[in-house]
Amino acid sequence: MLVPMTSTISWREIQRQNFTDCADLIDFLELDKSLCERVLVKSHFPLNVPLRLAQKMAKNTLDDPLVRQFLPLKDEELMVEGYAFDAVQDGLFRKETRLLHKYEGRALLLTTAACAMNCRFCFRRNFDYAENENFFEQELKAIQNDPSLSEIILSGGDPLALSNEKLGKLFQKLSQIPHLKRLRFHTRFPIGIPERIDDAFLEILERSPLQIFFVIHCNHPNELDDEIFAALKRIQKLGIPVLNQNVLLKGVNDDLPTLKTLMELLVDQGILPYYLNQLDQVHGAAHFEVEEQKGKDLMGELARSLSGYAVPRYVREIPGKAQKTKIQG
Ligand code: SF4
Repeated sequence: MLVPMTSTISWREIQRQNFTDCADLIDFLELDKSLCERVLVKSHFPLNVPLRLAQKMAKNTLDDPLVRQFLPLKDEELMVEGYAFDAVQDGLFRKETRLLHKYEGRALLLTTAACAMNCRFCFRRNFDYAENENFFEQELKAIQNDPSLSEIILSGGDPLALSNEKLGKLFQKLSQIPHLKRLRFHTRFPIGIPERIDDAFLEILERSPLQIFFVIHCNHPNELDDEIFAALKRIQKLGIPVLNQNVLLKGVNDDLPTLKTLMELLVDQGILPYYLNQLDQVHGAAHFEVEEQKGKDLMGELARSLSGYAVPRYVREIPGKAQKTKIQG
């Protein structure tokens, strides 16, 4: 049963309000000249920040956890040993241009290069998405021809950057493949533009014969608010589990109070913490790295202070390895 939402503006219109010009965001954040000097005004991975996220940022500082995640800094230009352009070697698992088959029984469909927001630490920030005009023909054929697959992960970019029309068509085609049982969304869209969870999208979910899992990506409590929870609640009311994954990020969430508050806020809404990811070592993101030992200590403290269901699994991707590796405390 769908619960009505009040917004009358379409998510596309809201997306058009995103900050895409550094000078505009610098003005909005009222940054002093000395801080501006540290900003990377032109980056090949462009600035893209929804207005509602910018409105949650503190003024005249680079230390705010949301500013850190979305405002490009000159630190991104440093060449750091161990950091690569394809941090997790996605290329090794590319079966079709937009299909990665890395995990047993599951394949990942790169639906689009677009996102609601561009996170500066993104492990696909240098990825060649090879977008083209055809509608996933080769990818759907490869999925159809592989009966070992029972689950498709819709990723990107962000699958919710696709129109409802395209998503509906994709769902319909995937639903016709008899060996598929589950569909998983990996999305950060509701955090930046919760209006994306509109009636037409919910109808697509509701009609799907496949079991859907909805995995959001939220790193800090300040990203969350009641409108976001209300949008996610509409998904939960369809019997779709909503989970969260986040990345351990220096200066953003590498302390116990932040992580604990985040997990509690999530579980209070019935959203289960899924993964806490160690940063993937992608070129441009070295300034976000937290030492693994610190991550282990934080996980130990989280496990002591929260119920088991509120504690995510601490994992890392080892380049070329076909599954995530649990980091043991
Ligand atoms: S939303 Fe996800 S895919 Fe998009 S930039 Fe952020 S981390 Fe990368």
